[in-house]
Amino acid sequence: MKRLRALGPALVLLAAARPAAPQSSNPPSVTVIRAGTLIDGKSASPRRDQSIVIRGNRIESVGDTATVAVPASAKVIDLSRATVLPGLIDTHTHIFLQGEDPAEGGYDVQLLKQGLAFRAARATASARRALEQGFTTIRDVETEGAGYGDVGIKQAIEGGYIPGPRMFVVTRAISTTGGYPLEDYAPEIDVPKGAQIVDGPVEARKAAREQLDHGADWIKIYVTHRSWVDKQGNLVSQPTFTLEEIRAIVDEAHGWGRKVACHAYNGVGLHRGLDGGCDSIEHGLELDDASIAQMVRQGTWLVPTMSVYYDHWAPEDTPEGKRDRKRAAVHGPSLQKAVKAGVKIAFGTDAGGFSWKEPIAREFARLVEFGMTPMAAIQAATSRAAEMLGMSGEIGAVSPGAYADLIAVSGDPLQSVQVLESVGFVMKDGRVYRGD
Ligand SMILES: [Zn+2]
Repeated sequence: MKRLRALGPALVLLAAARPAAPQSSNPPSVTVIRAGTLIDGKSASPRRDQSIVIRGNRIESVGDTATVAVPASAKVIDLSRATVLPGLIDTHTHIFLQGEDPAEGGYDVQLLKQGLAFRAARATASARRALEQGFTTIRDVETEGAGYGDVGIKQAIEGGYIPGPRMFVVTRAISTTGGYPLEDYAPEIDVPKGAQIVDGPVEARKAAREQLDHGADWIKIYVTHRSWVDKQGNLVSQPTFTLEEIRAIVDEAHGWGRKVACHAYNGVGLHRGLDGGCDSIEHGLELDDASIAQMVRQGTWLVPTMSVYYDHWAPEDTPEGKRDRKRAAVHGPSLQKAVKAGVKIAFGTDAGGFSWKEPIAREFARLVEFGMTPMAAIQAATSRAAEMLGMSGEIGAVSPGAYADLIAVSGDPLQSVQVLESVGFVMKDGRVYRGD
């Protein structure tokens, strides 16, 4: 049993990391979870007094506790005073970012001074932190200069060497010259970039091929970069790729059966991203009516990452401070319009963009504040996120055949989504990682 120094004493991982057990001929163990209330990730309303029968790493059946047959050998976990939900899914994380404090060198210092082993060690702690908070799956959308480190962390989790969520990884991400930090160094100095930089459709396609070849589950591109407030008080964001470049990347990824996540704020870059066939819009700070209609038509996902834009603003009287306030001011109404229009929404937070010590689930309250019902917000982090990841029925649902990824909270998240910030029980793949 090990403890993470940064975490409170209550956060104890129950299962020590160890390599996956060799295949044995023993029948898989059976566990029954008694749930006082079950929110299954798909149904419109919760159900009381349910029992979940788990065989090995999969859910075998779900039914009324009064009638369900419990095998004699089953281990029973009593959560009859708690609300049980599917393991949560955060579709926008950065385990290789640590909410860098500008006072400590900010973003740049990690690319310039921190070796990859150090960064991988911290990413390992971040992955574990996500799992402890009940996030049993993440889509990690860029290593920020740490190359293919996310593929390695994912392999270590899958091999049972370290605890962590199921991971979908994008590896290096792609942007254009002038489209990603590190920036503002003397032009004579070659500095590393946080993303793979390409120009022209040939380089764009080649980068996508390289990343897919080295294990990217998704491709992540930046279709907007810098943003500022113009003289009229509007938020403006700099477009990066040409439509031709975006099409080359999307075409390549789709050919591999993979999808493309597009960081996009607003304006020209956002429209090019949608015209180019982006599968998810990340952030989408200011979706105009035309882009919302296009997203509905094309079935494009929105991963709004609200809360990160509402905290940590620069001082009010600086250009950055004005920009930060403007971003937040347009973001809420934009999400409200998207929700109303029926845009498909998946839960994502940008964790790593803020410290992993802060609760990931803080995002739920923002989603509810801007027009989602608590149940819709929960589904965005369960069955809807699973749908976006092509994992419907496997994760994000408490139903027969799904992986046994389950969490529990005390209290009713439909009354107060904030209770999701205090997850007390975490099971992933049939194994208990937390049981306060
Ligand atoms: Zn991000």
